[in-house]
Amino acid sequence: MTYQTAIQSYLGDLDFDPAALKEKYLAERDKRVREDGIDQYVEVTADFSHYEDDPYTPRIQREPVNDEVEVIIIGGGFGGLLLGARLREAGFDDIRVIEKAGDFGGTWYWNRYPGAMCDVESYCYLPLLEEMQYMPKHKYSFAPEILQHSINIAKRYNLYDKACLQTAVTDMRWDEAGQQWHLETDRGDNMRARYVAMANGPLNRPKLPGIPGINEFKGHTFHTSRWDYAYTGGDSSGGLTGLRDKRVGIIGTGATAVQCIPHLGEWARELYVFQRTPSSVDVRNNRETDPQWAASLPAGWQQQRMDNFNSMVSGGDEDQDMVHDGWTDIFRNLTGNAAKAAGKVLGRRLTKAERAELMELSDYRKMNSVRGRVDEIVEDTSTGERLKPWYRQFCKRPCFHDEYLPTYNRPNVTLVDTDGRGVQRLTENAVVVDDVEYEVDCLIFATGFEVGTAYTRRSGYDITGRGGQALSEHWADNIRTFQGLMTHGFPNCFFLGFTQTAITVNVPHALNEQAKHVAHILDETRRRQKSSVEPTARAEEDYVDEVRRLAVVGARFYAECTPGYYNSEGGKGNKQGFFSNMHGAGPIAFYNDLREWRAAGQLDGLELN
Ligand code: NDP
Repeated sequence: MTYQTAIQSYLGDLDFDPAALKEKYLAERDKRVREDGIDQYVEVTADFSHYEDDPYTPRIQREPVNDEVEVIIIGGGFGGLLLGARLREAGFDDIRVIEKAGDFGGTWYWNRYPGAMCDVESYCYLPLLEEMQYMPKHKYSFAPEILQHSINIAKRYNLYDKACLQTAVTDMRWDEAGQQWHLETDRGDNMRARYVAMANGPLNRPKLPGIPGINEFKGHTFHTSRWDYAYTGGDSSGGLTGLRDKRVGIIGTGATAVQCIPHLGEWARELYVFQRTPSSVDVRNNRETDPQWAASLPAGWQQQRMDNFNSMVSGGDEDQDMVHDGWTDIFRNLTGNAAKAAGKVLGRRLTKAERAELMELSDYRKMNSVRGRVDEIVEDTSTGERLKPWYRQFCKRPCFHDEYLPTYNRPNVTLVDTDGRGVQRLTENAVVVDDVEYEVDCLIFATGFEVGTAYTRRSGYDITGRGGQALSEHWADNIRTFQGLMTHGFPNCFFLGFTQTAITVNVPHALNEQAKHVAHILDETRRRQKSSVEPTARAEEDYVDEVRRLAVVGARFYAECTPGYYNSEGGKGNKQGFFSNMHGAGPIAFYNDLREWRAAGQLDGLELN
């Protein structure tokens, strides 16, 4: 069998012109690429700092803390919760979590917008389900349930005991003589800790669009991650009665907007959706958990399901697709799994070029079906045309929703497409696009979170390591780590998240692997009765080289994409793109490597003093 016949038997007859689609994709990208890349956004400081205020928990007053603990974890989201749990399991009792928010939950504390829900299957996504003996109510959980689960984890693992909530770290310094960290906070605290772990989250800082006139608008405004229910009425499940007599505008049509727009459309007198680039929105198909199925699950089921999902979305070999949803469908058809299937038909492995071609053709076919879904659902053809995404599936975060597209059939909802240019300007009472003024009472920014800015800008504090070196200097050119979790010159300091670790669609899976690894290193350091642990300069250098080597393929793919935070807004060289600092071996190989490293027991690459 020839390669062409194999491709045809795998893909079927192509009912589209790949060259024409490629040309269209590149033209749509070119329309949107801007010189200023990530600098187009406004930082939420000074005049804009109120956009970061916590609308959910009244601020309490408390006396400053002056004490010493064994471990401080900065961040009480999934990363901090998982690390707290794994450390408790390893016998660490003296743990303090410091968290800016009024409670645990991280992204699920902040993102309470109407319709907020996880879009990775909850049986894989919610951490520690078996440990907590909890079964989510739906295949995809709604935000309040996930927030409550986070709080329950914090209770179960005693993380409230010494927690400092509503507290932001302002300074962190290594004390070489005392072999410990000194931390200061915005509450006047002065704390010392042997170990500190940063679990600040990858998308933690809201950003605003740098639209001319952004501070001229006099109507009501807020960012989706600080939803103002006092103004809109209702709660995360909807019921936004306060909007019944309001003209509402929303800027942005990313994964957040896709979830909240159906509720805004239902309640606002008029809704204007200001769109720069449409999302790809596929079937959601949420459903309640079947209690019989839940009762039939054997011990160890969650890790098994997480591993199966991780494998499905990372090109692994699996006989069964346990999760079987939109995510596994696109990965099955658009990645290495598809190449393997076509190779079986052909009777040999595909060459690199053949593989790339197959991926591209499968991608066109998939995106045609996503565009076809718009035609099926949206009644007005002109609106429908403007809701169609013209880029490859992984250029932007894929979305899954069953009520988003039908919202555009409501008479009170208007899509204002900016043809890739973005909103032109704001006035005192209106949003301007193509010189047309759209008057609104309330303007909601669904404009996402900072990506690609300096790590220390996003965390809000710098870290001074051994010999007075600042982390902002050590990482001035780029992040430098060993195993994505530690950096040379900063002993007993750990970074959870995506500082050169591998990412997977199911982010808590990645955080759990990291938490287990960090807990192991702390445990080993204690067992060997050492006071500090850090990577050698050499180990860090080698690791950084490895990350660079593996990053090349992704950079090529993203260069052809429409701008977004995945590719540093189309900025030159993609140095600040979301994936640019991740380990390109992929999660399966990466977690295996970490496991083998732990099993070897040598702590290779680390220096203990
Ligand atoms: P995004 O960064 O994905 O979206 C920001 C939106 O704002 C984009 O549509 C962008 O358009 C638009 N925008 C920016 N500037 C302008 C402008 N000047 N004029 C008009 N539009 C503008 O943020 P989200 O909050 O939607 O999502 C962030 C991430 O959070 C997701 O990718 C996902 O990883 C996560 N998330 C996860 C969810 C889940 O698991 N359930 C739900 C929601 C979010 P353009 O595309 O042209 O840049």
